Amino acid sequence: MELLWGLACSTAVGGLAYWRRSLSLSGFLAAVAVGTAMFVWGTVVWFGTLIAFFVSSSLLSSWKRRRKSEAEGVYEKSGRRDAGQVFANGGLAAILCGLFAWDPSPIWWYAFLGVMATVNSDTWATEIGGLSRTPPRHIRTGRKVKPGTSGGVTRLGMAATVIGGAFIGAVAWLLERITGIWIWSFGSSPILGVEEGWISGSAAVSDQWWVLLLLGIAGGTVGSLTDSWLGATVQRIRRCTVCGREVERLTHCGRPAEPIRGWRWFNNDRVNMVSSVAGGLMAVLLGVWLS
Ligand SMILES: [Zn+2]
Repeated sequence: MELLWGLACSTAVGGLAYWRRSLSLSGFLAAVAVGTAMFVWGTVVWFGTLIAFFVSSSLLSSWKRRRKSEAEGVYEKSGRRDAGQVFANGGLAAILCGLFAWDPSPIWWYAFLGVMATVNSDTWATEIGGLSRTPPRHIRTGRKVKPGTSGGVTRLGMAATVIGGAFIGAVAWLLERITGIWIWSFGSSPILGVEEGWISGSAAVSDQWWVLLLLGIAGGTVGSLTDSWLGATVQRIRRCTVCGREVERLTHCGRPAEPIRGWRWFNNDRVNMVSSVAGGLMAVLLGVWLS
């Protein structure tokens, strides 16, 4: 029953994203797999947090798309997210959800919040920071760089990072509240995947709004900064042989781009994975310290 509900909800949300061209076909299938796993293993709080990230990011991507298309050509992947990108963003979250189903410890919940905050902060920073009127500065050298350059940060992007992390904390708190009221009114609900006193497995320690908000902000900021730092140092960067721009993609202007720096195997998806781990660890440390 839960599996069918999970499949139905994930297919509906993923299908909408595919139809709106924010997911490729492989990305759609990966999103359905991740969504269904989280619906079955987690509760509506986990699944809802994932959906909040997914919907807000998709809306931001399509907002002012034309103005951003200039910088977009630089990134490894353009508008449509494929399976590699979906798993890099959601795979770790789904694994944490499975670990929680197997051993309901608040550690997994904190880690999940940190991971979701990282991917959300990072996406918001890219989408909103891309609209900055002042040129980005390189995170390591502080020099001005072209918009869209890996490792470039703007003040606007930093603000979006913090707010993006806070958003995940706020959504998680709100979902816990709503679920709590639901249980109080109607008793436990197998469809929502919740029983009394088992909202997120950590109801006793993390149902305070400021704890969730802090976990989101700290996890998102650390994860997102790790992403920028890796982008500025070891991420694989190439130069287009036609237009001369630094790009993350393998090809640009229809030609293969030549490698200029970074580790050959360290592509954008791997950078996202490592950043998510950093954001998750930060949230776990803070969560354990606060509880
Ligand atoms: Zn080019």
